[in-house]
Amino acid sequence: MKSVDLIVPCYNEAEVLPLFYGEVSSVISKLPDFEFNFIFVNDGSRDATLDIILGLAAKDSHVRYISFSRNFGKEAAMLAGMKYSNSEYVCILDADLQHSPSLIIDMLACLETEPQYDVAAARRIDREGESKFKSSFSKWFYKVINMLSSVDIPESAQDFRVMRRKVVDAIISMPEYNRFSKGIFSWVGFNTKWFAHENRERAAGETKWSFGSLLKYAVDGIIGFSTVPLKMVLHAGTIISAVGLIYAVYIIIRTFVSGPDVEGYPSQICAILVLGGLILIALGIIGEYVARIYLEVKNRPIFIIDETNITPKEK
Ligand code: UDP
Ligand code: MG
Repeated sequence: MKSVDLIVPCYNEAEVLPLFYGEVSSVISKLPDFEFNFIFVNDGSRDATLDIILGLAAKDSHVRYISFSRNFGKEAAMLAGMKYSNSEYVCILDADLQHSPSLIIDMLACLETEPQYDVAAARRIDREGESKFKSSFSKWFYKVINMLSSVDIPESAQDFRVMRRKVVDAIISMPEYNRFSKGIFSWVGFNTKWFAHENRERAAGETKWSFGSLLKYAVDGIIGFSTVPLKMVLHAGTIISAVGLIYAVYIIIRTFVSGPDVEGYPSQICAILVLGGLILIALGIIGEYVARIYLEVKNRPIFIIDETNITPKEK
């Protein structure tokens, strides 16, 4: 019997967890050929999420959990779940039921019958239940990141997926602190079969993403998977110096021909302002990379576990 671990990152999902558990349980009861285990990752929730998970674990031996010492973010929660899983198939899905659990049936059937695929992943076909602003922001973000990065990161790809063990092992072998899963999923390669998936409204509770956290996610994605911004700084610097040099030659020739003049104060101020601005932007871009290098070399753990019912032997 093949084993499947269902990894569920949870941050303040107390309202929705009982619904989630009920719906997923009814889906997996239709798949008697697999042994399912839940791995709930409580990402420092401040509501009753942990109590609900503990309650589920007490009555169902297939419920495992990891509880973080504070909120480390969904990326860290997914990584912890993958590190603690030991099953042949690993499925990642959100706790809010926006990822239809019934799709797991098709995803598993695909990996069982089509050995050429190693990942069965959901691709959203609409953005129902999401604000206009958020969907146009993410459209632009994926355009930019795909222009700047050599890995192809499909816009509609979701974290909702079933992966074979070897794919999970490849993902957890990437030790980076600044994690951008959509990039990591693409970067490790492997054949992916895409499943069209209609976005559903959250069953209860509310989204954890603010505009600030989305912006940070976008910057992390671009910097984590592209060094093009650094090259752009170099190119801009080269072009501006070339223009400056040509202008200097022109001034020198003009001084020889018609004598020195004291005009040109406004143009000097313009040049100083434009160049000063560009230098600061360049420093800022370099700073973003340096800050990430700083975080990487500190080599801090990506998450800290407060409690878990997964014994180290099972890791
Ligand atoms: N999540 C998490 N840690 C966080 C933020 C979110 O584990 O810091 C979980 C959350 O509980 C949910 C999933 O990640 O299961 C997706 O979050 P959400 O539904 O808020 O995102 P959205 O669907 O709005 O993009
Ligand atoms: Mg959601």
